[in-house]
Amino acid sequence: MNMPSASPPLATTALVAVLLACSSSATGLEDPDDDGGITLPDAPAQDISSLLQYFADDLDISVDGDFIVIRSDGVPDHDSPYFDSGDPRYTPYDGSNPNFRLNPNRIAAVQTTYRIPRVPQESTNKEATPLGPIGVAVNGVPIYNQYAGPNQPLTFEIDSFDQFNGHPQQAGQYHYHIEPLSITGTMGNDALIGVLLDGFPVYGPYEDGRLVTNADLDAYHGHFGPTEHFPDGIYHYHVTAEDPYINGNGFFGVAGTRSN
Ligand SMILES: [Zn+2]
Ligand SMILES: [Zn+2]
Repeated sequence: MNMPSASPPLATTALVAVLLACSSSATGLEDPDDDGGITLPDAPAQDISSLLQYFADDLDISVDGDFIVIRSDGVPDHDSPYFDSGDPRYTPYDGSNPNFRLNPNRIAAVQTTYRIPRVPQESTNKEATPLGPIGVAVNGVPIYNQYAGPNQPLTFEIDSFDQFNGHPQQAGQYHYHIEPLSITGTMGNDALIGVLLDGFPVYGPYEDGRLVTNADLDAYHGHFGPTEHFPDGIYHYHVTAEDPYINGNGFFGVAGTRSN
């Protein structure tokens, strides 16, 4: 009776050799059409599923094929003067804006479903962001763009931002147009803030210990580079202190959808 050989069959050895050859040629691969490194290399595709662990536990999160689906009622996980005064989460305004004025709206649960590409891709025609949610913060609060209405700057609306930089709109949907101070205050000023509908992540106003300004960013308010979660580099947005704050002239990537 023949005993099995201790050494691997020839076919397996050949397969391993082929795999090794593939991996070594892949790592050393150069684009033969490369024009000399003037342009950035093509951004490697990155699966953003690994970011989901940073989102609040009470959100309803799933992966549906090529999309991440996040469902949230948008109610903040922090106190606000925009809760009804009888609500235990009500707290008076204690921020630094002497012109603060409470708007007439109060926080209500507004269910929103975000369908976000799992592997974000740059868009060839950069789509303008809509009014309403353009992304979702890690605490489930919607992120809005830099406008109070169609092409209206936030100039006056800023005075109604509470001490965490959010406020509710007419339907009670609380949201951030600028830096969410509860997130950067607890997670750090370089922390992951959330993701926009195109799947590209949003980080706080610091990177590698340095304040990021609009001058560091492109027209969409992001740039390509390594982050804590993507050491090989990914396009990402940053919150900055100046208009347009979170996103600029539209989505860098192909945007997913949001619905109620
Ligand atoms: Zn607003
Ligand atoms: Zn950056």
